[in-house]
Amino acid sequence: MSDNCLFCKIVQGQIPAAKIYEDDEILAFADINPQAPTHFLVIPKRHLAGPGAVAEADQALIGKVMRVGAEIAKERRVDSFRFVVNNGAAAGQTVFHFHLHVLGGRPLAWPPG
Ligand code: 5GP
Ligand code: ZN
Repeated sequence: MSDNCLFCKIVQGQIPAAKIYEDDEILAFADINPQAPTHFLVIPKRHLAGPGAVAEADQALIGKVMRVGAEIAKERRVDSFRFVVNNGAAAGQTVFHFHLHVLGGRPLAWPPG
């Protein structure tokens, strides 16, 4: 738990979220401002600021975040999807707790903005 971290507050139940999946290590929930018909976030419950803060000891946890994100997309019959993980404000990160965006359900252009 990191003070004043929005996603730690969601993990603690202090802020509500539309939860999709939860276990002892991971939480998935709908993005409050969806950018595609499917747009949810998968986070480690333990506070990690972002991909730039992932240490060797976190590798399995972050791999699990990706596996769970793909499994939820498949369950929802979303075959084509995009994973996004922003690191740093200039890359668009606004919440500094690691989160995997899973986007799908519409054509996704490349390169991203
Ligand atoms: P970032 O810009 O840091 O990569 O992504 C942060 C994401 O968190 C955004 O897509 C934003 O819509 C989402 N978000 C911000 N506040 C909340 C909230 O209170 N609840 C939920 N469910 N999503 C949020
Ligand atoms: Zn946090």
